[in-house]
Amino acid sequence: MECIFCNIKDRKSEAEIIFEDEHVLAFLDIQPVNYGHTLVIPKKHFDNFLTVPKDELDKLIHATQFIAGVVKRSLNADGFNVISNNGNPAGQSVYHFHFHIIPRFDKDFTLKPVVRNYSQGALQEYGEQIRSFISKYKDIYNG
Ligand code: 5GP
Ligand code: ZN
Repeated sequence: MECIFCNIKDRKSEAEIIFEDEHVLAFLDIQPVNYGHTLVIPKKHFDNFLTVPKDELDKLIHATQFIAGVVKRSLNADGFNVISNNGNPAGQSVYHFHFHIIPRFDKDFTLKPVVRNYSQGALQEYGEQIRSFISKYKDIYNG
């Protein structure tokens, strides 16, 4: 299937590339939340966060940390968001995994979504529900 980020990586589509190594490519988002908003992608195509193999993810995280520091310093930003949207309800629109690095400034708007409060006992119930799956899937974590 046609992938815009693979096309950028293969230089079939244009992008403002700011960093590249053997495994990772970073370029400016064409519709930035703030100017300098950067996308960091693995060169290999993976649909989302859950399908990126550990060795690729290690390299991607390492590059993202480096690029976030450079974006922050070069733009004199006061902070930054590192975000990944996964799946349609989370706002993912390009199904080639990527981290967003969004430079943030003291006088900025908030990106925080609307928050909820847990009803009595619900916090513990959600904790229990998720913990039961941690035990079920821990072999995947341990490799
Ligand atoms: P997502 O919505 O999947 O979390 O993020 C995809 C991002 O890719 C969006 O912020 C969007 O603006 C950006 N984007 C989509 N198409 C292109 C493109 O052709 N070039 C660049 N540089 N960014 C793109
Ligand atoms: Zn792709």
